[in-house]
Amino acid sequence: MTSPAMLADLDGLSVATAPAELKRKSRDFYWFSPTLKRELEDARADLVVSPRDEAEVIAVAAACYRHGVPLTARGGGSGNYGQCMPLRGGVVLDMTGLDRLLWVKHGAVRVQAGKKLIDLDAELAGHGGEIRLFPSTRAIATVGGFIAGGSGGVGSINWGMLRERGNILGGRLVTLEPEPRVLELRGDDIPKFNHSYGVTGILTELELPVAPTQDWIDAIATFDNFMAAAHFGQAFAEAPGIVKKQCAVMAAPIPHLYLRPIASHVGAGQACALVMVAKQSFEALEALAEEHGGGVTYARSLEEVEHARAVPLYELCWNHTTLWALKRDAGLTYLQSFFPPGGHLELVEKVSGMFGDEVMMHLEFTRSGGGYACSALQIVRYTTEERLQEIMALQERAGCRQFNPHVFTLEEGGMKQVNTTQLAFKREVDPKGLLNPGKMLAWENSGWKPAD
Ligand SMILES: Cc1cc2nc3c(=O)[nH]c(=O)nc-3n(C[C@H](O)[C@H](O)[C@H](O)COP(=O)(O)OP(=O)(O)OC[C@H]3O[C@@H](n4cnc5c(N)ncnc54)[C@H](O)[C@@H]3O)c2cc1C
Repeated sequence: MTSPAMLADLDGLSVATAPAELKRKSRDFYWFSPTLKRELEDARADLVVSPRDEAEVIAVAAACYRHGVPLTARGGGSGNYGQCMPLRGGVVLDMTGLDRLLWVKHGAVRVQAGKKLIDLDAELAGHGGEIRLFPSTRAIATVGGFIAGGSGGVGSINWGMLRERGNILGGRLVTLEPEPRVLELRGDDIPKFNHSYGVTGILTELELPVAPTQDWIDAIATFDNFMAAAHFGQAFAEAPGIVKKQCAVMAAPIPHLYLRPIASHVGAGQACALVMVAKQSFEALEALAEEHGGGVTYARSLEEVEHARAVPLYELCWNHTTLWALKRDAGLTYLQSFFPPGGHLELVEKVSGMFGDEVMMHLEFTRSGGGYACSALQIVRYTTEERLQEIMALQERAGCRQFNPHVFTLEEGGMKQVNTTQLAFKREVDPKGLLNPGKMLAWENSGWKPAD
């Protein structure tokens, strides 16, 4: 795989071959899933190359094409389903060296793909702005990794998921052809690279919309009953006058038992809502919580939290909830589900009653179309793979959509169907199928052979 000729082509670039480094840069958070832990444990790169600019990315792409070597791009390595794990070895391309902010204007930012989201927000603050959406892994995730691997997160209560038109404005990518091209894709071409796991090109720059910055307050509201908390979450999401960025609702025993940093603010049998609300909307939040039979037990400005290096509440939300739970009990795992808008709270109530203590409810309120919906990262007491499949099937039958986090291909996880746009584009830009091979089922099954 790493012939002397290939290494000669990479001369002058930063190339790592030390086994510990190869192992470290070949992993993500795949171990959240007992199934993926078993299946992907041995995935290993032959080389880690760390480009410093786009010209070096092009040089690596050309060398990989010439020698038929797989290439898997890597940002912060915080994906959940082995997305950046090189199933067939080859080069892992560490993109974190491309970390420059290029410009900010007209409510938009242009940035290199390897920039960490937390650093991007810090720089945008100087321009009175912030990114609309970030994953709870903001501290380690990169812009390119989020766009190629993520789906939404903090901010989705206002802006919906990443894939919604307008949440990504443009992207520049390098192809894997004999003479790699650099393409700028915008508008309705964005789905060609969004949530593609990097199988359709190496992103070098992204253009994103910028929201006005706010003085955010982290707040916890507690409730004696889970559905009261869920109805509060819905009312909070819908309240047009309340400026907000995040609302997660968790059933007992999750907050008190598993979320160590906030355990003292939530009673043992209580449910809670973890929210980010703008300072000027804080009193309205308190009143809304009381109206739903709850009360605010914790509030701290995000600025203060960051200054004190304390844990921001968003690092207890989205898949961080699962992470904290796993730290306490390695016998747990999780589901990713979606309660579609309209009747979603009734469905939440129904599903939460179906599995007793085996499945613990964790909701994330998101904007969806003209209304609001709940994404869910339910925590499961794991017994067997068969039982996990059964729980997903039962929930799906009840009307709760499942995005299986225990698989590593695009189609079996989120998409559930062949993305013909991405498949056609891949044939054009990666004719040898070298980009992150094994992740796009449609490609693997198509028997496609490039013309020589
Ligand atoms: C605790 C925890 C919480 C999480 N919370 C969220 C959340 O709130 N929302 C969410 O959407 N996700 C979440 N995730 C998943 C993950 O953190 C995010 O998707 C994150 O944005 C990935 O960014 P990254 O830089 O770490 O990407 P990586 O993991 O490095 O890569 C992700 C995918 O993108 C590809 N890729 C990376 N860089 C490029 C590039 N420049 N060009 C082309 N392809 C590229 C990789 O090959 C891989 O397929 C969470 C994961 C964990 C472990």
